[in-house]
Amino acid sequence: MRLDRRFVLVALLCATLLAQAPPRMPAEGSERAIEEQFLSVPDPRQAEQHMKILTAEPHVAGSPGDRKTAEYVARKFREWGFDTEIVEYKVWMNYPAEVSVDAFTPAGAIMHGPTKEHVEDDPFQDDPRVVMPFNAYSPSGDVEAEVVYANYGRPEDFQKLTEMGVDVRGKIVLVRYGENFRGVKAYMAQETGAAAVLIYSDPMEDGYFRGDVYPKGPWRPDTGVQRGTIEYGFEHPGDPTTPGWPSTAEARRISPRDSPDVPKIPATPLSYRDTSPILQRLGGAESPREWQGALPFTYHVGPGPVRVKLHLKQDFGYRAIWDVIARVRGTRWPDEWVIAGVHRDAWVYGAVDPISGATAMLEAARGIGHLLQSGWRPKRTIIFASWDAEEQGLIGSTEWLEQHEKELESAAAYFNLDTGASGADFRASAVPSLRGFLRDIAKSVPSPKGGTLYDAWRTAVRRENSPTANPTAEPQIGTLGSGSDFTSFLDHSGVPATDIRSSGNYGVYHSVFDNFAWYKKFGDTNFLYTQEIARVYGLQVLRMADADVLPYNYEAYGKEVAGYLDAAQKSAAGQFGDKAPKFDSALAAARRFAQAGAAINALVAHAPSRVRDETRSVAPPLSLAGFERQGGDVERLNRILLATERALLLPNGLPRRPWFRHAIYAPADLKGYSASTIPGVNEAIQRNDAATTAQQLEALTGVLNRAAALLEGFHPASSELFVLRAVPTGLR
Ligand SMILES: [Zn+2]
Repeated sequence: MRLDRRFVLVALLCATLLAQAPPRMPAEGSERAIEEQFLSVPDPRQAEQHMKILTAEPHVAGSPGDRKTAEYVARKFREWGFDTEIVEYKVWMNYPAEVSVDAFTPAGAIMHGPTKEHVEDDPFQDDPRVVMPFNAYSPSGDVEAEVVYANYGRPEDFQKLTEMGVDVRGKIVLVRYGENFRGVKAYMAQETGAAAVLIYSDPMEDGYFRGDVYPKGPWRPDTGVQRGTIEYGFEHPGDPTTPGWPSTAEARRISPRDSPDVPKIPATPLSYRDTSPILQRLGGAESPREWQGALPFTYHVGPGPVRVKLHLKQDFGYRAIWDVIARVRGTRWPDEWVIAGVHRDAWVYGAVDPISGATAMLEAARGIGHLLQSGWRPKRTIIFASWDAEEQGLIGSTEWLEQHEKELESAAAYFNLDTGASGADFRASAVPSLRGFLRDIAKSVPSPKGGTLYDAWRTAVRRENSPTANPTAEPQIGTLGSGSDFTSFLDHSGVPATDIRSSGNYGVYHSVFDNFAWYKKFGDTNFLYTQEIARVYGLQVLRMADADVLPYNYEAYGKEVAGYLDAAQKSAAGQFGDKAPKFDSALAAARRFAQAGAAINALVAHAPSRVRDETRSVAPPLSLAGFERQGGDVERLNRILLATERALLLPNGLPRRPWFRHAIYAPADLKGYSASTIPGVNEAIQRNDAATTAQQLEALTGVLNRAAALLEGFHPASSELFVLRAVPTGLR
């Protein structure tokens, strides 16, 4: 990489000055003591207690059970010393009133469903408050039609049916869960003219094909159903009647009928027990072999001769939901919020999703509360958020964000949790600027497997990849797609985000069986991984809240984007041949961004000295007090670092979905969940649109140059040429 001469000079000068006047070494003991004190608090027995209470009753968003969980969480936050409020929004949501699915062949009835979710010996399944399986935002409807099987309901699956001469217009489309967000399945069926959609859990995905089913094993039993929203959140998440503004009591509303986020054809989920007779009797052509699931017969695509009669009556209305917001004001930078959020609402009991995450958050908050009681105060404002109605469409987090857009312009980070711990495998996704930060934290957290989480994580990743993989490779951190509450923070407001979890064999997602009994048998049975997650989560909050310089690594970010551009350039060449737009300016801008980031990194030691990568820093770090005594302007540096994240937002948003503004990340278009990188460019290439590709490349180039220019604008005075610590300085 070609280095900008100015930055080389700065780095050299820096090293020289440091050699002449060695900086005062920071008082490291107090800061380490604070972290140790925090790490000693999260406790497996306490975690189990929270989970027991929070999963005692079904608590779908807006229900009395949900309200009780809000009050429990609020009471705990207050007990631990946080200013706490329960924030109510009124949002458009449905519960199912009547659901029936009947199947016939010309010879007679073959299935009358849905069958109640049931196994031998589950203590939670018979509670009358369990919400029957349904898809949120499906309209009511009565449809009787022939059935067509459409695999995962991806665009290419519908394309394949067309090629096979199967017309889905007016039919009931049967699709299996997996590969994409269920809203995409419903949307594709609607767009191709289907009359209704049935979405079922094939045992190949999370049933007996994977292993023993509940209660013998952790996988989905034959009656287990995956509930879930089909809101078309690819336009915007949140309340569909307030796109872009908060759902306060007096909010202006658009009619649900006019909302692009609300599906137009009915959809409902099914178990594989109820689906099997339908699929087994479908005629028509054999399905393509890769469409075959794990049911014990050959799948055909139809249409018919099986007909299904679907009756759905949905109870729609404006319903109250409750976010619980706990805060402690920062002493030095109160406007730079550090936000840690987990949803609390569940489809039924939600032991894994989301209560294992909510439990870890509570233990992290208790740890921070412990520090507060000893007199410690954070430099930045800390906010713990217990979101509601995530399951319906990230509603609680999105409405709160829309109410605080202005304040969020200076938020330092958003740390997400959702399914906290369903097993022993640590997983993380993050923006590139926070990946090093997260790896460093893993070095400070002990693993239940022995050693540090960082070691365990790295070993596991190496084992999964290949025995020949580079033994010194860093553990991989994924990209943020969608499907949880970080979406609005990153994609709309440009707040840098992370998402962590500890994964395992989890086959009861969104069913009645995701409950305390399942969790004690197959989840994080002794709560040691919940404790680990609570420690990582809380340490992220602690370090971000107390960092003298915001610990963002823009060199890593720039390099990552350059990699995305390289890949996109290749696909553009494949797609457009010699008519492919030029990538040179965008690549140059990404490199410039990386170089500007490297120059800042040279001034800032990104990690506590005990875990710092010695090859990356040029000198021992200087304390904030020392830096400021030398006339260093840390305020200005932090303002620039914050503005750089926001500079990655596209002024006009993405084509066709302007609410999504991030130039580097978005939920994959018509995929959901997974991430689309440099989405404006890549999606234009996929749509074979050279003109939009060129225009999006230009927009991206502008964004990257603007971000680089901001970083380059931090011309340090000679007195600022000391390496500054970007770590908490503890009690002083
Ligand atoms: Zn969840």
